[in-house]
Amino acid sequence: ATQEKAWAAGAPSTGKPAVTPESVINLDHGDPTMFEEFWRGTGAAAEIVIPGWQTMSYFSDVGNVCWFLEPGLDHEVRRLHRLVGNAAVDGYHVLVGTGSTQLFMAALYALSPPAAAPMSVVSTAPYYSSYPAVTDFLQSGLFRWAGDAGSFTGDTYIELVCSPNNPDGAIREAVLSSESGVAVHDLAYYWPQYTAITRRADHDIMLFTVSKSTGHAGTRIGWALVKDRDVAKKMTKFIELNTIGVSKDSQLRAAKVLRAVSDAYELSGAGEEHRRLFDYGRRKMAERWSMLREAAAASGIFSLPDETSGYCNFTEDMASTNPAFAWLRCDREDVEDCASFLRGHKILTRSGSQFGADPRYVRVSMLDRDDAYDIFVKRLTSLK
Ligand code: PMP
Repeated sequence: ATQEKAWAAGAPSTGKPAVTPESVINLDHGDPTMFEEFWRGTGAAAEIVIPGWQTMSYFSDVGNVCWFLEPGLDHEVRRLHRLVGNAAVDGYHVLVGTGSTQLFMAALYALSPPAAAPMSVVSTAPYYSSYPAVTDFLQSGLFRWAGDAGSFTGDTYIELVCSPNNPDGAIREAVLSSESGVAVHDLAYYWPQYTAITRRADHDIMLFTVSKSTGHAGTRIGWALVKDRDVAKKMTKFIELNTIGVSKDSQLRAAKVLRAVSDAYELSGAGEEHRRLFDYGRRKMAERWSMLREAAAASGIFSLPDETSGYCNFTEDMASTNPAFAWLRCDREDVEDCASFLRGHKILTRSGSQFGADPRYVRVSMLDRDDAYDIFVKRLTSLK
């Protein structure tokens, strides 16, 4: 009843309900609520006010290939990539999407010309579970899911390269090469809180999202950096036909949030380190990973990918990888389905089978709120 009153007064929802030590802990989705704590501390720097008469037009910049892209978002996207050094932006078109999920679909559309047979869409297993699901849900005649890139034999294809990879955090490169094959690089996790920034990526199509960079998944804003003008035009066409553009309100909010991130590095003084997103994120993720490794060791029945590290050009020091998901293997002989084993202990995860891999593996989100994460680690420690 209190909750309903709050909604009636215009208060927003908070997403998942609060947890208690007896709760079912849902770490199936990569819901990035961990970052709420950071953004509670940034005050007006990440706030926007939109008067009733603003953002009413469909159009943002009619001279741009992506005519519904807010120029302020374009500016902040380029500025942040220049600051972090994770992707090249000069000579690229910036396209905005309703999450990078919409841009992924736009890329499939743009890269699959009408032909006798649908274009094959592949990715190395274990691959992000949405790739097959999103590729095939409308049963397009233009493209279709063709599974693990490692066992693909044709030479016309779209290869999805996710690096660091969802679900296992691996740093990846395209495994296929041919004249008529193309790659789409999904760099959702190529940010300093998750991995060392070792090079300025300069692939033909690169996808990013605020969902994983800043944690604003509910804002539903992603962007693509696209080299080729015709591909950029076709991707824009897809979004025009699909949703006639992308919420300007969300774009303005995303722009303000990205601006707060860059400002904290470029403008803030000493003593303001707590306002630096990537410092916060890296510290938090490193803490969580060390808790998890201890829990897996204490339990004795789980294994995790080995920790790797590299020199980070952004922070100018060695950094270990802290993936946004744990790719957890249950080593107990009698457990063939790790997800149902954990479900029996009220921990919800996503089965390896959904990523084209062994069901002894599960993917566990590392980005939930502290209370849920702490209960998860405690429960894991006690499993034998
Ligand atoms: N790519 C990868 C690899 C992801 O993990 C996710 C989110 N789980 C997305 C894309 C989609 O993100 P968005 O919220 O921007 O649609």
